[in-house]
Amino acid sequence: MSITHIPGFPRIGLQRELKTALERHWQGQLDEAGLRQIGRELRARHWAQQKQAGLDFVTVGDFAWYDQVLTHTALFGAWPARFGFGEGCGLAEYFQLARGNAAQPALELTKWFDTNYHYLVLELSADTRLQLDPQWLLPEVDEALALGHRVKPVLIGPLSWLWLAKAVSPGFERLSLLPRLVEVYAELLGQLRERGIEWVQIDEPALTLDLPESWLAELPGLYSRLVRGAPQLLLATYFGSVAVHADRLMRLPVSGLHLDLVRAPEQIGSFLPRWPQDKILSAGCIDGRNIWRANLPQLLERLHPLRAQLGSRLWLAPSCSLLHVPVDLQQEQGLAPEIRQWLAFAVQKLDEVVTLARALSQGEASVWRQLSASAVAAEARKQSPLIHRPAVKARLATLTAQDSQRPRPFAERAALQREQLCLPLLPTTTIGSFPQTAAIRASRAAYRAGRLPETEYREAMRAEIRDAVARQEALGLDVLVHGEPERTDMVEYFGEQLAGYFVTRNGWVQSYGSRCVKPPVILGDIERVAPMTVEWSAYAQSLTAKPMKGMLTGPVTMLQWSFVRDDQPREQTALQLALAIRDEVTDLEAAGIHVIQIDEPAFREGLPLRRADWAAYLEWAARAFRLSSAGVRDATQIHTHMCYAEFNDVLDGIVAMDADVITIETSRSHMELLGGADGFHYPNDIGPGVYDIHSPRVPPVEEMTRLIDKALTLLPAERVWINPDCGCKTRGWAETEAALRHMVEAAGRARARLGDAVSAG
Ligand code: GLN
Ligand code: ZN
Repeated sequence: MSITHIPGFPRIGLQRELKTALERHWQGQLDEAGLRQIGRELRARHWAQQKQAGLDFVTVGDFAWYDQVLTHTALFGAWPARFGFGEGCGLAEYFQLARGNAAQPALELTKWFDTNYHYLVLELSADTRLQLDPQWLLPEVDEALALGHRVKPVLIGPLSWLWLAKAVSPGFERLSLLPRLVEVYAELLGQLRERGIEWVQIDEPALTLDLPESWLAELPGLYSRLVRGAPQLLLATYFGSVAVHADRLMRLPVSGLHLDLVRAPEQIGSFLPRWPQDKILSAGCIDGRNIWRANLPQLLERLHPLRAQLGSRLWLAPSCSLLHVPVDLQQEQGLAPEIRQWLAFAVQKLDEVVTLARALSQGEASVWRQLSASAVAAEARKQSPLIHRPAVKARLATLTAQDSQRPRPFAERAALQREQLCLPLLPTTTIGSFPQTAAIRASRAAYRAGRLPETEYREAMRAEIRDAVARQEALGLDVLVHGEPERTDMVEYFGEQLAGYFVTRNGWVQSYGSRCVKPPVILGDIERVAPMTVEWSAYAQSLTAKPMKGMLTGPVTMLQWSFVRDDQPREQTALQLALAIRDEVTDLEAAGIHVIQIDEPAFREGLPLRRADWAAYLEWAARAFRLSSAGVRDATQIHTHMCYAEFNDVLDGIVAMDADVITIETSRSHMELLGGADGFHYPNDIGPGVYDIHSPRVPPVEEMTRLIDKALTLLPAERVWINPDCGCKTRGWAETEAALRHMVEAAGRARARLGDAVSAG
């Protein structure tokens, strides 16, 4: 029988128990013992589910109190000296690393490869101490052993762990820590072997990136050292192809390799012909990144040749950790049966893996029920009108280049827009959302629970809009927003209204720590059935003579923050989303909205893992944005907004979006982004954020003035807008109004100085 296992399981719990427990613990309502008890219960439950499903191993080491990378940092005793922990890192110290303390900011959060999970970036320097602190893993191994499980611990591999770190002392090379780090791993592996552990999974997802040769060259020495005195090692790669390293990987002395055959099915061709006799292959064939049920009979056809060649040396697994999918479909209430049959969450994926293994070893007859149900569902999905809307496909097929191009170049549009909007120099605006107050959330909760009739809910939201418009007029802002009170989330709000999408009730996935997201699901062809924002924006515009900015989420961000269909390329889906947004854009224009912002905060994170794939992505991503925005007259002004600091890699793509105005985050980096040869040189109008909305702090006028002055040394004044870094949704009104008052004041002073300079010159 093929061995079955999983690279990892979601740790957050079916009811987000870990989230609740963590938040109670941080608020002092649950002590450490209570928190630890909940962790133990969750782990025990998840291992039991793996065993019950029939997996051969349970995976241990995928649990983390906040983040798995941080847990490794604690395990290796590698916390930064700036925290001053002395000798030990217990749970309290661990949470300080994750959340900061009175004296020290937290470790930085960043995205885990191309997922929406975030890890804590470790800080390495020549002084970094490395010392095994086995309490961060071994008690969990013992726990699972005591429960009678066959345990396969998982560790992040040394190369990936170092690669994901940042060097904090000048000139320091992360790789120089490798010799000491290897010894720490070796010590840990030795202790696992003493416990009778047969296999350890070592994750090296960094191998799917463009690693420098100097790093790759370390592989043989590194793994030769690690296998000595260790249990058998399964080297796991995922999120992409490692075909370029095939020979190198097959020569390593490890006992097995795990390959992601969902993201990169073709890579098997680079391995199989020379597959070594001494290694097992763990085939990652069930999608660990998405919620679709597998087509098992079709998969079996691909697995038969592997089985024929490798026999019991073929293992079966999901492509990557199931961390990235919700826990259990069984818990999802109110889902149409037709849709339900197309889905598999983590628990269902365990069954899929086991079914495949049974089919291979005991024959398909032994699992014919599961196989035929899977085939029936797959066939239904291919045919269903819920998925296929011929009109959408036809519209996409008839698109021409003109459809994704504004008629006139930016300079001519800008002149028309100035005439229409009558804006001063250095116009002021905000990014869209205003504080989501307790009152707003209470109204929405009551409405959703059926306690507040729709008419009253809408009136409550209109009252919020009136309030927001009045405040903005009093502040003297130039381009106003309605404040987005009616939106919970910038993607879900549209997902709920577009045909082709569905929204789960309990499909939570961990983002980091206690934070979870519930991505909506793109099921089929996307179509806008009715206007989604026009009524709100038109109402807001009716309250003021100033221009009201319509507010939409762009196609790339919709795509990035949703579960996407796996039966067509992402590009196709992005273009369908773009058409739906385009319909909304043209309706907004017809309703008298002359400024429309299409947010693309996720534009950069859509970049593929390997550089070789970047250009193609940027090309279609920019095209999708242009398609969404180019249906308007030239006098209508299109804005976009992005709030990540690393724009350099995607600048060409951003320029190709051709928005009239872009607002970006720059205040934390003090406008550095805008300068220098490799800086962000956007050819159209730009609003570099002049204050950071992530903190309640109200910066003084002088501070914003300094940033504006700096921006004006780098950009022509006619192209500069004045705005905060991002939306104010998470702020309170008091600090929001105070900060905006300072911002308007700083803009006024800058205008006055520019006016003086003009009259003097
Ligand atoms: N318009 C959105 C807001 O202001 C933009 C959010 C974002 O950039 N993530 O909330
Ligand atoms: Zn933002």
